[in-house]
Amino acid sequence: MSSGLANSGDCHDLIVIGAGLAGLATAAAWVDQEAGSVLVLEAERFPGMHSSGRNAGMMRQVAEDPSITEMCLRGTELLEQRFGRDSCQFKRTGSLLFDAHGEISPDSWKQVLYENWSSDQVKACFPELQHLPPGPARFVPGDGVVEVPALIGDLIDTIVSKGGHIQFGTRVGKVSQSASGELSLPEVWNGEQRHTDPDQYRARQIVIANGAWAQDFSRSSGVEIQIKPTNRSGLITSTFDIADDPRPWIWAHEPGWYLRPSAQEYLWSSCEEVAADPGSDLALEDPWERLLRVTESCWGDISQRVKPLSHWVGQRSFCPDRRFLLGPDPRMEGLHWAVGLGGHGVTCSLAVGEVVSSGLLGHSIDGHWLWAPERFVD
Ligand SMILES: Cc1cc2nc3c(=O)[nH]c(=O)nc-3n(C[C@H](O)[C@H](O)[C@H](O)COP(=O)(O)OP(=O)(O)OC[C@H]3O[C@@H](n4cnc5c(N)ncnc54)[C@H](O)[C@@H]3O)c2cc1C
Repeated sequence: MSSGLANSGDCHDLIVIGAGLAGLATAAAWVDQEAGSVLVLEAERFPGMHSSGRNAGMMRQVAEDPSITEMCLRGTELLEQRFGRDSCQFKRTGSLLFDAHGEISPDSWKQVLYENWSSDQVKACFPELQHLPPGPARFVPGDGVVEVPALIGDLIDTIVSKGGHIQFGTRVGKVSQSASGELSLPEVWNGEQRHTDPDQYRARQIVIANGAWAQDFSRSSGVEIQIKPTNRSGLITSTFDIADDPRPWIWAHEPGWYLRPSAQEYLWSSCEEVAADPGSDLALEDPWERLLRVTESCWGDISQRVKPLSHWVGQRSFCPDRRFLLGPDPRMEGLHWAVGLGGHGVTCSLAVGEVVSSGLLGHSIDGHWLWAPERFVD
């Protein structure tokens, strides 16, 4: 699938490598500002083949790290502006969070509106729970769910309708810079075939938004960073008999599971974090067996009440300090990053696009996100 090739010989104002949520949101923010031409290059033939198509679609505002919480709040605001408050793409269903060991910083909680819920309130909402997870129950009314395929489609529409180009099935090997400062992509493959026109892929600025592949790519381009992909599974099951919809999603940091309920099906994860190679979809153990084990203390034996319908494994990629890497890299002028979105890339995608595109326009970016050697001491 391609939305049209840019003309050979053009020097693009911007090339974005990777059409996951990070790359698409960046390109969409760029075309919204009418900032110049943009070409997005994506290795896969279809959008959403990796993390951006293998997540839970939960919009969670409070993160462990207060600066990521700020980004999540802005991301949520932008999602609401884009889709409206209660649309089929975006719904504020609320969430119920249990964080027994205080993994979420108090400075994160200070930024988010929440209510402390009694055990009676929790049980009224989730009568299927046999025992409450440990820790205080906090209800966050502003959290919700996002229909991610609709978000991806909407971002692609924005880019293409405003003159941007997206080329699928195009894998980039590295970025290089000439003595005159021009950025180019000397190694590009369309499917199995190496591209031979050296002039086609030149740009004034380039954004690397290639998720789990960022570390290998950074090495071949001579601007090394460390990013670790980790695998996490998701499962779809049938529902308990309760058909209340919408209910908040519920997340227990300890023992480590979440559930996004809907009237038709339940989406679960047992919150594992398993180091893996980029693109791997291996689970360390059977996802259903693991889910049964981690949910037992709260839900009892769920195999008696729901049927597993499908499962998948996706990757969350982290910088060593678990903060995103966004904005210009001082080691190569014109090169920018949009990687390391970890488990927040759905909620934060539009905010990430906003920040990265403002960096492309020369505005300053909060130092939390920028490349600095001390951030990449592994
Ligand atoms: C199980 C699971 C559940 C999650 N749940 C949530 C959630 O509920 N809420 C939330 O906010 N976040 C969630 N996330 C996190 C979210 O999915 C990610 O943060 C986000 O999708 C990352 O987007 P990305 O664009 O950085 O990466 P990706 O979607 O992986 O995109 C990177 C793209 O770059 C392409 N690419 C790679 N190398 C090259 C190359 N050399 N040339 C060209 N293209 C290249 C890849 O093919 C890929 O399409 C979850 C993640 C997982 C795994």
